[in-house]
Amino acid sequence: MFIDKATIYIKAGDGGNGCVSFRREKYVSHGGPDGGDGGKGGDVIFVCDDGKNTLLDFKYRRKFAAPNGENGMSKKFFGKSGEDLIIPVPRGTVLRDPESGLVIHDMSDGLPFTAAKGGKGGWGNVHFATPTRQAPRFAKSGLPGGERNITLELKMLADVGLVGFPNVGKSTLLSEVSAARPKIANYHFTTLSPNLGVVTVYDKSFVMADIPGLIEGASEGLGLGHDFLRHIDRCRLILHVFDISASERPDPLDDILKINSELYKYSPELASRPQILVGNKTDLGYSDHDLERIKEYAARQGWQLFLISGIIAEGVPELMKAACDLLGTLPPIARYEEEFVETEEKTGFGVEVVKENGVYCVKGEWLIRLCNDVNFDDYESLQYFQRVLRDRGVIQALEDAGIQEGETVDIYGIEFDFMY
Ligand code: GDP
Ligand code: MG
Repeated sequence: MFIDKATIYIKAGDGGNGCVSFRREKYVSHGGPDGGDGGKGGDVIFVCDDGKNTLLDFKYRRKFAAPNGENGMSKKFFGKSGEDLIIPVPRGTVLRDPESGLVIHDMSDGLPFTAAKGGKGGWGNVHFATPTRQAPRFAKSGLPGGERNITLELKMLADVGLVGFPNVGKSTLLSEVSAARPKIANYHFTTLSPNLGVVTVYDKSFVMADIPGLIEGASEGLGLGHDFLRHIDRCRLILHVFDISASERPDPLDDILKINSELYKYSPELASRPQILVGNKTDLGYSDHDLERIKEYAARQGWQLFLISGIIAEGVPELMKAACDLLGTLPPIARYEEEFVETEEKTGFGVEVVKENGVYCVKGEWLIRLCNDVNFDDYESLQYFQRVLRDRGVIQALEDAGIQEGETVDIYGIEFDFMY
């Protein structure tokens, strides 16, 4: 089975919590704080795997979560960091945001890409000791790891795409080239997968992709043709194979026009890419009249025309050389620009104050965590809480909202009276 699109859910590990702990030693009645920090959560990282050419792995497994960081421990022991989760994908996989369809990253340069970052570990209480606060009874909890849905789309990285009706001899051309290697010594073929091969001509090489034959009406969703066209989306050159012998279909020129109109319906831009017309099956004979009409058409389009017999590898070396030469004049394989911009600044400390029924409600993602971390039984922890509120502009925001002394503030369920 060939799977070339999948949507998965990824979740990076949460950071471990910082630890509240105090040194215990013989003859020392009040040891200092020694709670260690939580470990960082694991990242979710995509890497290219050149041995893969399908997204089949993602058909049944759709949830990928990296482990959390461990909590900090006493004696200043750090919690262990969560291991990164590595997800191998075929080279050329494009990562998109499922909702907007925008490109997050194009896995074509072979470099790893971190798609979700693990949360930082929280500080242990050892960090909160000051000359006046020698026994901090609070620590910070770890930050949550990033999470998102992500669409994977396979867009093979081929320089050359083979298109044409079924049975015109596209696959034969690929496999014959490989089988013919001893005979045609100046180039050879390494098959990476059934549909992708590296062709080497003298000292140059290029990647050629074979996709299942395009059929009429493919752009309207008939058959599997249309869907597969995405695999030649970024080909720099199209080898348009047709059956010049008309062994199965009556009019080769008509076939060429039909395929090109399918290409156009799928993408006008794709249809305008350079083509080489490849008339295959010359061993079966062909009509000179057909050839003349095709020559005229090729001249009008400014395309080269080659006649070959894939099955006996006749004309194939010349074709490969022409393709290679033409590629040398064409721009490199298109990379998809990153379009997706993270809208919500995760590290921000935004604050919003809304007055509801006489109560000043303070909102801001980060405050939820801060509230979680407060130890309300501990005076110093509360002091710390208040200082953070002041330092990060919460008090200012409340004043801007017109709060008066004695009025009530609500921060995610924590209520207190406002005092200067
Ligand atoms: P594809 O569907 O375009 O990939 O076509 P295939 O490569 O599978 O070939 C379809 C049929 O055409 C097979 O039976 C091949 O043996 C035959 N074929 C391919 N190339 C030639 C050729 O050059 N001459 C002849 N006589 N038959 C060919
Ligand atoms: Mg085929």
